[in-house]
Amino acid sequence: MKVAIFSTKSYDRQFLITANYDHEHELVFFEPRLNRETAPLAKNFPAVCGFVNDQLNAPTLEILAAHGTRLIALRSAGFNNVDLKAAAKLGLTIVRVPAYSPYAVAEHTIGLILTLNRKIHRAYNRVREGNFSLDGLLGFDLHKRTVGIVGTGKIGQIVAQILKGFGCRLLAYDINRNPVCEELGVTYVELSKLFSESDLVTLHCPLTPQTHHLVNADSIAQFKQGMMLINTSRGALINTEAVIQGLKSQKIGALALDVYEQESDLFFEDLSNEIIQDDLFERLLTFPNVLITAHQAFFTKEAMQNIAETTLSNITDYQEGRSCPNIVNVQQSIAPNP
Ligand code: NAD
Repeated sequence: MKVAIFSTKSYDRQFLITANYDHEHELVFFEPRLNRETAPLAKNFPAVCGFVNDQLNAPTLEILAAHGTRLIALRSAGFNNVDLKAAAKLGLTIVRVPAYSPYAVAEHTIGLILTLNRKIHRAYNRVREGNFSLDGLLGFDLHKRTVGIVGTGKIGQIVAQILKGFGCRLLAYDINRNPVCEELGVTYVELSKLFSESDLVTLHCPLTPQTHHLVNADSIAQFKQGMMLINTSRGALINTEAVIQGLKSQKIGALALDVYEQESDLFFEDLSNEIIQDDLFERLLTFPNVLITAHQAFFTKEAMQNIAETTLSNITDYQEGRSCPNIVNVQQSIAPNP
């Protein structure tokens, strides 16, 4: 099948070309993000492949459908960037990669927690500069700390399993209980209790209308003084302005982000010679207790192999008229995890 692949970097090409030996699709790589301006590049491509920051809103989908596209294959688990109702109306099939390596994201989350707590990023720079002072590097034992996990699906469960090994007390909030987590000793509580009792809150639920700005001024008011907040899920789970206020008042004692609400203007590009126009993002970078990575939690060899393989299998299933387990239904825009 002829596939227009958007938002591609050299690493995407490498893994997709290798996985394609078993599928023999005609892959055409485009570097730009997919949006209404770039959608005409996919003219006469029955399949289009996109990533997390591609804008698959109604105008983009209408252009794709008018130019002959029938299938949108996402190289991601999240599908919050797709207008599912518009896609259904246009008869477009949406497929995704629901699980490629929950370990990749969970392990990166733990990496952020340890780095932020023990200030390893600051220590690394200091030692290279010949500064061996410990001032400002004080951390805390994770052992016996209370961690609140919001969303105990595939990633949240692995985070819970790893943190159990550290000897943490684990609280969770989810619209569905995960029996593996319950067996592990995770206690499900209301969100307000999770916020008020946790020394560390980590977000692993999808971005939906219900979870948009889940962390806002009201929830921050419920946080424990000096708590640590981690978001490796989706940027818009957090109201950035409210979080900046929380950092200034020291209600939030430390923040690590792998995702950011306006990340599509920044992440995945080398902007080191540009003037960054996003003042909120720049303000975040001024805090010594904020650590940001640029949406790299998924980025392991295993995850990239699985993303490439599942994406191409999804396309093959569609081409051969086979039922595909990875189709995203319009209902999932309201209730993502039935
Ligand atoms: P999953 O579907 O296995 O789990 C999501 C969990 O969130 C489910 O248990 C679900 O019941 C729960 N949930 C849904 N709505 C909720 C709500 N309103 N309140 C509380 N919980 C709710 O998904 P996953 O594989 O664990 O991934 C979680 C999220 O991680 C994805 O949605 C995606 O946004 C993000 N993600 C980020 C990266 C990255 O590189 N940073 C990579 C992959 C996934």
